[in-house]
Amino acid sequence: MFVVKPVPAFADNYIWLIINPRRHCAAVVDPGDAAPVLAALERERLVAVAILVTHHHGDHVGGVLDLVAARPAPVYGPAAETIPGRTHPLREGDMVELPDLEARFSVLEVPGHTAGHIAYYGHGMAFVGDTLFMSGCGRLFEGTADQMHASLGKLAQLPPTTRIYCAHEYTVANLRFAAAVEPDNADITDRLAYSIALREMDQPTVPAPLELEKRTNPFLRVNEPTVRDAASRQAGRTLARGAEVFGAVRRWKDTFSSTPQM
Ligand code: ZN
Ligand code: FE
Repeated sequence: MFVVKPVPAFADNYIWLIINPRRHCAAVVDPGDAAPVLAALERERLVAVAILVTHHHGDHVGGVLDLVAARPAPVYGPAAETIPGRTHPLREGDMVELPDLEARFSVLEVPGHTAGHIAYYGHGMAFVGDTLFMSGCGRLFEGTADQMHASLGKLAQLPPTTRIYCAHEYTVANLRFAAAVEPDNADITDRLAYSIALREMDQPTVPAPLELEKRTNPFLRVNEPTVRDAASRQAGRTLARGAEVFGAVRRWKDTFSSTPQM
């Protein structure tokens, strides 16, 4: 019953519109910029009934105040972070009830990228901000590897058909790294080819089902022997704990160049 549309912003951000077409209204997720959102609401003849923020970074909140000045709406966001214009602070287990949209989302605290980062889950969809990317995950700006590992573990427990909506188009670069970690993983090779084709047609690679992430995302695969062995080789010592493997893969990715090594 919902139609979810991306509003591209900046170089590679997606601001998501969760639309109830029958009621001509929408929730706006992470409006880093107001202008493209206002244009989309105008074009689609939609009333904004809520703004859902995942974390405090400027590319996710930069448009909130301009947006509510033009189209007043409640602003939901993490209680543990400073969010401009926030009217509804949220914590783990809270419910976001949006009767106009006929939607409700539960709140998951997923620290790691930032200390107070949250995700919204409902109706078979998860809006995860900069926590879980397609075949990747967010950088650790404020949290620890242990925290991010636990946060991804929490998201991994959602139903396998859950569609994951992340906030950046990083998929092709992430899959090049994933292919370096697991060169023999055919799901990764196939998804890389398909994602390159989508980008050549200017189509988003987001969303994807959680089940596909589990087969192609090295950060969700730290308990697989292939990933553990590759991370151990990279670290120069034998890694055992999932969180240790996660930390090693995250550090590896931080310095990985996606240009082919000649
Ligand atoms: Zn961010
Ligand atoms: Fe971001």
